[in-house]
Amino acid sequence: MSSEVAGYRAQADSIREAFERKFERFARFLNKRINGENVVDVTEFNLSLEEAQAELRALSDLETWYVGRKSQLSALKKLIGKVSPEERSGFGQYLLLTQIAGTDKIAEVESNLQSYIWKKRSERERVDVTLPGRRPRRGHLHPITQLRQRIEDIFVSMGYAVEDGPEVETDFYNFTALNIPELHPARSPQDTFYTTGGLSLRSQTSTVQVHAMQRRRPPLRVIAPGRVFRRDTPDATHNPMFFQVEGLLVERGVQMGHLKGTLSEFVRRLFGAGTRTRFRPSYFPFTEPSMEADYSCFKCNGAGCRLCKGSGWIELGGSGMVHPNVLRAARINPDEFSGFAFGLGIDRMCGLMYELDDIRLLFENDVRFLEQF
Ligand SMILES: [Zn+2]
Repeated sequence: MSSEVAGYRAQADSIREAFERKFERFARFLNKRINGENVVDVTEFNLSLEEAQAELRALSDLETWYVGRKSQLSALKKLIGKVSPEERSGFGQYLLLTQIAGTDKIAEVESNLQSYIWKKRSERERVDVTLPGRRPRRGHLHPITQLRQRIEDIFVSMGYAVEDGPEVETDFYNFTALNIPELHPARSPQDTFYTTGGLSLRSQTSTVQVHAMQRRRPPLRVIAPGRVFRRDTPDATHNPMFFQVEGLLVERGVQMGHLKGTLSEFVRRLFGAGTRTRFRPSYFPFTEPSMEADYSCFKCNGAGCRLCKGSGWIELGGSGMVHPNVLRAARINPDEFSGFAFGLGIDRMCGLMYELDDIRLLFENDVRFLEQF
């Protein structure tokens, strides 16, 4: 061997010795040879996840120092070409073995640390059933829906069925069957939304009365909550779409006292046992006689406040005895059966209960507003 190559080999030996010293801290992560078998028990590493990750990074630094492009070993490999052809392959072999002696150990430790980290991670991510869960943020029903359901519950407990009806109606159901004459202003396109095909969006839930009477023959008790549409310009107290509940009872021998008793009982169940009612004569095409119902203000109990505009009373809605023509339109004999009907505005009631200054808030669906209920 030439003295030149012997010098190179000595350099390689000292690089390897330096490596062995640097590698000592990782030696405990190597496999153990027990009865000729490679065994490793990563649980003995006894590191936190973060410590194990730090060890892995330090190992990667050592690898770079040992065999990286700028390492001393790589610098020696570049000299292979300068060695005489007779000695070239022997020297090359020597450097390769030196390199492998280190990289084999590095690969073994890397693999063991990786499986330790994997194990630690899965332990950390395992569900601990004793910990309180992270609850998903729960929403809730819209305030109008909440009130509608309370109203439904009250009437269902009084024996009413909840009825549904179409929102797009023919002229017959929206007007004619409700005894609304040909030239009545409610039929005007200024008040009602018409489709190009001559249908209209229902302007009141009373349309369901006729459907209900046709579908269920008397005696019947139904309420029909739903959306109605009128060509109003939206402002603090109006919206072109709003919610009503329609009530209808048709039986033998029904008279005005039953209607008054029903509405009085309803407001007592909704606003409290002390709630009083009063009735004022009114006019609707589909009831005769007709009346408006008021109830004593739930806030001031009738004393007068801002909510009831100082009167002590709040308007509940329109009502009356079903007009004989409406019964006839549903092929019910008005001499045999009579009935009463009433209509309540849900959103108006909702606006009062929550003291909203602007009813449009209920329809804009701004979550910051709706979250308060
Ligand atoms: Zn009041």
